[in-house]
Formats: sequence, structure tokens, C-alpha cells
Amino acid sequence: MSQQVFNFGAGPAMLPIPVMERIRDEFLDFQGLGVSVIEVSHRAKQFEAVLNQAKERFRQLTDLPENYQILFVHGGARMQFSALPLNLAGRSASSKCLYVETGNFAKLAHKDAKPFGDIRVIASSADTNYDRIPVITPQMVDQDAAYLHVTGNNTLYGSRWQTFPETGKVPLIVDQTSEMLSRVLDFSTFGCAYAGLQKNLGPAGTALVVIRDDLLGQASPQTPTLLNYEVCAKDNSLTNTANTFAIYVTGLVLEWLQEQGGVAAIEKVNEQKAKILYDLIDAGDFYRGVILPEFRGTMNVSFNLASEELEAKFLKEAGAQGLYALKGHRSVGGIRASIYNAMPLAGVETLAAFMKEFERANG
Ligand SMILES: *Cc1c(COP(=O)(O)O)cnc(C)c1O
Repeated sequence: MSQQVFNFGAGPAMLPIPVMERIRDEFLDFQGLGVSVIEVSHRAKQFEAVLNQAKERFRQLTDLPENYQILFVHGGARMQFSALPLNLAGRSASSKCLYVETGNFAKLAHKDAKPFGDIRVIASSADTNYDRIPVITPQMVDQDAAYLHVTGNNTLYGSRWQTFPETGKVPLIVDQTSEMLSRVLDFSTFGCAYAGLQKNLGPAGTALVVIRDDLLGQASPQTPTLLNYEVCAKDNSLTNTANTFAIYVTGLVLEWLQEQGGVAAIEKVNEQKAKILYDLIDAGDFYRGVILPEFRGTMNVSFNLASEELEAKFLKEAGAQGLYALKGHRSVGGIRASIYNAMPLAGVETLAAFMKEFERANG
């Protein structure tokens, strides 16, 4: 492997190289214990310190108020699609839970919730192939509902909520899996925000869940112990054996992010990276963006070429030049460049140079 490879995969996604080097360097001997971090008890004081420090770094990075808990929950983001109604539907006498469908994960979120509440989809952009975020007026948010769930950034298409809807007293829940810590957000406006770790935070299989204290303690009796957020909060995410490696890596990624200057600093870089690609897409009609410009986020840039043959050629030649995993999601097709926090500017510049050259040769 002589040539540098840039990984544009949507998730599991690339991690910062300094973080992976550090994992490698201390892998066999964690903090002088002579054993690996993956061999240490989750109840060892060294590991609990790692867990608590990761939480503290997350709190600092997000300016998270004291009345919010930070949990590490098994099963990635999708497990929370079931856990959320189990924990929260009981807040509403009629167990009414509101959803906005802006992409495939948003759709799975209400589908998985279905057995556990009166699930209502109050708006959807499915009719226009998820090219936009629907307008949500305060009148659309039934104040008797247990919560309103939205997907912050739509990983397949690249659209995002530029501002979140006004929900009154109904808690807003945001699936931030593909945008966690990529832009400055006011967490005090959320009832709950969560993310599978594997896009902006660390390895797959575990989710980080942020939840306001007053939303704990209302889980339905059927809730599995390990999905009960109140139990998880009481046990400091150590009810059973936690994914110690994922939490350790997440702590290192959060430390790296603090070294980059925090969320505001990485947000600037993210905007710069996305602009390079969108400017190129907008410059002609060779590359065709899949979403309307006003809904563009900075994490996933999805576009099509004139034909599937041309897209296949693009992917093949890009791959040969070390531009890895640019294929769009199987349900959307086309090209997708996932450019999460860890993607360096140089990776995007290399992709842009390739795109210009490919257009010149094939346009
Ligand atoms: C990737 C993704 C998921 C699924 O995450 P898993 O950890 O695989 O369950 C859910 N929501 C969004 C927005 C995603 O990008």
C-alpha cells in the first residue's frame, strides 16, 4: 500500500489517523497495566476513568447542560429506533409519537417504533425522493405527543435540517448519527440526541445517547433492561459489559476534536470541504446533485452522472487512484462522498482534482 488512500465510506467511516496510531501504539499495554485495553475489566478503575473522561469531553464539546445524561447504549443507532418509543411513548396518554420522514433512516425509525406506540408521520419528502426537508409549522406538532423525532442529517442524500422545528413542550429527538459534532448546535433545545458511533465518533455497534433528565423514568414495563435509559444512566452505562473498545476509541476521537479547536473549528473546515465539492457540481451539468441546494449539509455529498455506465467508470477510476468507497447507497445508486470530521481537506481536494479531470476526459 504505497499510494495514500482516502476513505469516503459512509460508515463505518474513517477515523483520524493520529487516533489510530495512538491505538496501535498503546494496544498491547494499556496505561502500563501490561494488558490491552480490550482485556481490562469494564469495572476496572482505569476503564471507568476512560468512560468518564469521554463523557466529560463530550459535555465540554457540546456545552451540554448539567441536566442531560450521556449514555453509551448497545446496538448502534438503529437499536434506539425501538428504544426511544419503549422509553418515551408512555409520556403521552395515547402513546402518540410524531415522526418526520426525510430519508431512509428516518423511515426505518418510525417503522421500528411501530410496535411500541401510536406512531404518526406528520410530514415526509418521500414523494420528491427526499430532495428536501419539509416545513414543520408549530400547528403540526400535537402538544399531546410524547416526542417529535427527526433525522438531523440524511446520510444517503446529504440533506439536513438547517434549523430544527419549534416543538413547544414536546421533546425534540434528533438522530445525529451522520452529523454528531460536525456543527455547532444548542443541545438544550433537544430532549434527546443520539448517534451510532461509527460515522463521527468511533467504531460501530454502540450509540451515544444524550437525554434530558426529566425524560428518564417513564419506560414501558416491557422495555429490555439494556435498552432502559434510566437503568443505563443509573449504572453509568455499565449495566453489563460495555463495548469498552468503542468507548475508549470514542474518547480518543473526542480528544482529537478538542485539539482541532472543537466543534466550531471543525464546522468551518466541514463547510470548506463541502463547498469545494458542491461548487464543482454546480459549475456545470456533468455532475448532478440529488438534493435541493438550500438543504445541503456538509457530511454526505451525493450526486449522479449521466448514466450508470459513466458512474461505474467513475468509481473504477477513482478507486484506482486511492479514492475509496464512493459508491452511493444501494437504495439510491450514484456517487456519495462521505466527508465526516476525520476526512482531511487534502482528501477532498484530491477528489475534486479527480472529478475535474474525469469531467474533462468524459464530458
Ligand atoms: C448510519 C445511520 C444509522 C444506522 O446506524 P447503525 O449504528 O448501523 O444502527 C441510523 N441513522 C442514521 C442517520 C445513520 O446515518
